[in-house]
Amino acid sequence: MMKKVQIPGGEPAGRVVCNACGNKSDFVEIAENVLVTTRYRQNSDGSFTPEENDTEIFGAVKFLCGKCGEDLTQYHAHFLEMSF
Ligand SMILES: [Zn+2]
Repeated sequence: MMKKVQIPGGEPAGRVVCNACGNKSDFVEIAENVLVTTRYRQNSDGSFTPEENDTEIFGAVKFLCGKCGEDLTQYHAHFLEMSF
């Protein structure tokens, strides 16, 4: 089942505004239980160069106000759609 995306009602429409402190510029995404796998190639001089990076998230992902820490996870799906 698709999770319904909650669209924030800020001005202009669709901007996330922290309902606790009014912040609309700084946000934090926190991912729990993250597995990061990085492939390296060893060069002829013995140094290593990262080639591929893979991140898997097994835990919950939270979306917080970057100023007061208010939990804004209800807007996380919206945040993902608007991240580019
Ligand atoms: Zn805030």
